[in-house]
Amino acid sequence: MTTAMNAGEHPHTESAPVPAHGAPDFEPLRADAHDDSHDRGPLTPSTPVQYVKGVGPARAKTFAQLGVNTVGDLLEYYPRDWVFAPSPVKIARLQPNETASVIALVESTDYQNYRRPPIFEAMVSDDTSTCRVVWFHGGYLRNQLQPGQVVMLSGKVTLFKHQLQMTNPKFMVLDEAHTQPDLYFNGGVYPASANLSSAQIKRIIVPLLERLDDLVCEFYEDDFRKRNRLIGRREAFAWIHMPPDEENLAQAQRRLKYDELFLMQLGLALRRYRIQHFSSAVACACSDEVDSRIRKRFPFLLTEDQNECIAEIVADMGRTEPMNRLLQGDVGSGKTVVALYAALLAVANRTQVAIMAPTEILASQHFISMERYLKNSHVRRILITGGLTGRKRAELLEQIQRGDIDIVVGTVALLQKDIEFRRLGLVVIDEQHKFGVHQRAQLRKDGTPHCLVMTATPIPRTLAMTAFGDLDVSIIRHVPPGRGAVITRWVGRRHQKDAYDFIRERLKVKKQAYFVYPRIAAVEETGKDIEAATDAWKKLAEKVFPEFNVALLHGQMPSAEKQRIMTEFRKGRIDALVSTVVIEVGVDVPNATIMVIEAADRFGLAQLHQLRGRIGRGESKSYCLLFAETENEVARSRLDVMTRTHDGFEIAEQDLRLRGPGELFSARQHGLPDLKIANIIDDSELLVMARKHAFELAARDPMLAQIQNRSIRRTLLAKFGDSIGLADIA
Ligand code: ADP
Ligand code: MG
Repeated sequence: MTTAMNAGEHPHTESAPVPAHGAPDFEPLRADAHDDSHDRGPLTPSTPVQYVKGVGPARAKTFAQLGVNTVGDLLEYYPRDWVFAPSPVKIARLQPNETASVIALVESTDYQNYRRPPIFEAMVSDDTSTCRVVWFHGGYLRNQLQPGQVVMLSGKVTLFKHQLQMTNPKFMVLDEAHTQPDLYFNGGVYPASANLSSAQIKRIIVPLLERLDDLVCEFYEDDFRKRNRLIGRREAFAWIHMPPDEENLAQAQRRLKYDELFLMQLGLALRRYRIQHFSSAVACACSDEVDSRIRKRFPFLLTEDQNECIAEIVADMGRTEPMNRLLQGDVGSGKTVVALYAALLAVANRTQVAIMAPTEILASQHFISMERYLKNSHVRRILITGGLTGRKRAELLEQIQRGDIDIVVGTVALLQKDIEFRRLGLVVIDEQHKFGVHQRAQLRKDGTPHCLVMTATPIPRTLAMTAFGDLDVSIIRHVPPGRGAVITRWVGRRHQKDAYDFIRERLKVKKQAYFVYPRIAAVEETGKDIEAATDAWKKLAEKVFPEFNVALLHGQMPSAEKQRIMTEFRKGRIDALVSTVVIEVGVDVPNATIMVIEAADRFGLAQLHQLRGRIGRGESKSYCLLFAETENEVARSRLDVMTRTHDGFEIAEQDLRLRGPGELFSARQHGLPDLKIANIIDDSELLVMARKHAFELAARDPMLAQIQNRSIRRTLLAKFGDSIGLADIA
């Protein structure tokens, strides 16, 4: 559509970006019974939405469901689409093949659902002529359009059987008071809810645009805006809701996206600044002697990547500014060893270390692999489990508090609960995508230790800049040498028996196998995944591999039982392990060279990759067999990717492509405010710009105390609140 609103009608100035509202509201606002809204009271961005004209308590509740609580939220309730319609003309003036608008009376309507596609048809007229209007798939219009209504229509005019008709026009029902219908017809279309239509939302937002002078402050200096082609912030709000034309809309979007990304990055920058400057950790010195003492613990030479990461960590930990570092590397790349180096460095400096994992199995895995390296060492270490209770637990907590224990391993939940350290020097968090910024902020409540976060999933650059935007990053790119290749095959039902025969041959030569069963969220609660794994275990143990020792492992087993089975498996006394996805999180048995993933089409790509990382840890060749029968295209693409590549970064990228960024990145999950207009994938260029700008500002004015930064500070606090610990700059 083209626009009928030219620049002359709507001057593009900051103060008057929207047409004046001398005209009466064309539809009386249906306010609630007790409407305590006031027309010209002092509105601020934090005023509850209830006090906006046309809202009131009942609608405020509806707005709350849409995430809108304040006037500021309302201004940020951005349209999902925009209409640019020409000014209305008389029906007699319509020409075929043009886009036009008319105001007309609905004479009759008819829904023809026997047609393919079904159509909703209306005859409309004005004082010059009549016109047929059709909407394909228009069934939803049955309770919106009725004879006798006056409507504004805008859309394409076509010729059908020598008669003019409008096809799929946008429309709005008018009433007598409509003196300026095209004003309200044009502009934003809002995401509506069952009891609040887009038009109703618009009638509430548009009058606010007249008061942008009071409601919106400019953030940046003119110079900066000019250089970066950013329009004014007030203009941007006016145009996003009522854009004079598409070019203005694009400018408004760019500005508001930029601001949103900027505020997010500034929040991260200030949090980082605060940690670096207002808190101090114990500086951990690393002499040559300490270094070689630690290295002697490892039965292999560290890889170049590992050494580089360690150098970065040693440099960080040598300072009193707390380290805040992300250690990224594929499964099996050797992160644990790097983390253990950091832990031993902290212990050498007479501080304590907390190692946190998302699950108990993973915590105990960390503990076990640590034990391998720490045999006969004087380092005092314990594993805290959920099963540990009563006297025994109390005693251990006391020892930790006295500083008699050096390294404590456990789940985040357990370690955050009630444990007090005497001198906590380092926290290692194995992230596995299970927690984000928010949790890290909480960890700092008692003292500010150095902090090392480990993650196994390669993180796209833009994501690293947001969710982990306040961290430095170290990356292990190459796995240690001496790893056998992993061959991945997609096995259909027809070939299952061959696969079992193949596995039998491997088990005969003392290799070990995993059989993994999917966890289905809906089913998990009912315990059916355990049932499925249990059934499969019975079948495998009794019918398929009766000559071998096949064991079952699942999440609901008592901790001690799980431990026992894992130990047996590690020692080679169990040949095949059937499990729900509990092994996903970190088992290290180099002799296990076969993995069967049942119903592999139900797993996500990242999860498949993680699972596969459990094999290929020894020198001999490993086999990953994906059992799946599916017609689902996305699932098939995932299986294809898995058979094609072993490269974690490539898989992460494919994952992003197959799932879209939305699912991978939820800001809220990471303790950041959700993005309402920007998108970290599509707007990565703006993100890079905003990040640079935000970090520069944080360095220049970390309290945001300078006059010109006041409005940024106010907006930032309103947005982030205390969620990332910014309250103390208020
Ligand atoms: P991640 O924690 O990244 O999954 P780990 O640290 O658990 O990886 O290491 C995986 C396996 O590789 C372990 O068995 C470990 O002993 C071994 N490993 C780690 N670093 C090296 C190295 N430099 N050389 C040989 N093997 C190594
Ligand atoms: Mg590991």
